[in-house]
Amino acid sequence: MNIPSLKNTPTLVNALTNKVILITGAGAGIGKAVAIEYAKQGATVILLGKTIKKLEKVYDEIVSLGKNTPAIFPLDLAGAHEKDYEDMADVIEKEYGRLDGLLHNASILGTLTPIAQYDAAQWQKVMHVNVTAAFVMTKALLPVLLKSENASVVFTSSSVGRMGRAYWGAYSASKFATESLMQTLADEFENTKNIRFNSINPGATHTGMRLSAFPAEDKSLIAKPVDLVNAYVYLFSEKSDDNGVMFNAQ
Ligand code: NAP
Repeated sequence: MNIPSLKNTPTLVNALTNKVILITGAGAGIGKAVAIEYAKQGATVILLGKTIKKLEKVYDEIVSLGKNTPAIFPLDLAGAHEKDYEDMADVIEKEYGRLDGLLHNASILGTLTPIAQYDAAQWQKVMHVNVTAAFVMTKALLPVLLKSENASVVFTSSSVGRMGRAYWGAYSASKFATESLMQTLADEFENTKNIRFNSINPGATHTGMRLSAFPAEDKSLIAKPVDLVNAYVYLFSEKSDDNGVMFNAQ
């Protein structure tokens, strides 16, 4: 499989001016670094996540940089219902009139366990948070995304979302399903000029999730979330007209 890499994407300046972008899982790891960079690039960011304290820290950091005032949207994707996403879409429409970007970044790892021993309830939770929530959220937000002149929706994948690997169970299956959701949407909206759908695999990055999966790894050898931001900015900028592409960030 030939997967394009965004590793050498140049640093863009003011690439997201006036854009309204919602980032899920914005309180930690890659989502946090990317949300702060989007604000630096001129976007108004909507910080969605489970833990309010973490979101508030990101909010404070953006405000202290003198950037556009962000919004905080606390939501536990494991327990949210369709109505919660519809309400969120109404709030975004009332507040901003449109949504220019949606980064599906929040995910959970579940357990690294052979399929023969994989707990069925755990499987369902991982599939729900990583795929079903992204489906229901995208569905609810489509009308407000279509009000944008040039909307971008990015799904977060993984190398195990492109090739299965022993013990990665529901996480791997959820990332394959994420790619399918992205490709289906990209195809359905192929002839709609103001919206595009792509996916990105961040690759090995030093975050809480990576630490749980590889606790003994030498952290100095892998990327930090800030190392990836150019790739993530590109996908929401006017430079990208990609649709239906699976990217690697590294
Ligand atoms: P992380 O540090 O664990 O951050 C995950 C974020 O998702 C956190 O902000 C977390 O919020 C949020 N989240 C988790 N469950 C949630 C829920 N039920 N409702 C709302 N928010 C929830 O992970 P990361 O490494 O930055 O990963 C970001 C994305 O990259 C994920 O999609 C991951 O699968 C993908 N990825 C990462 C790597 C890597 O090496 N790091 C490699 C490949 C793919 P709380 O902190 O409040 O729980």
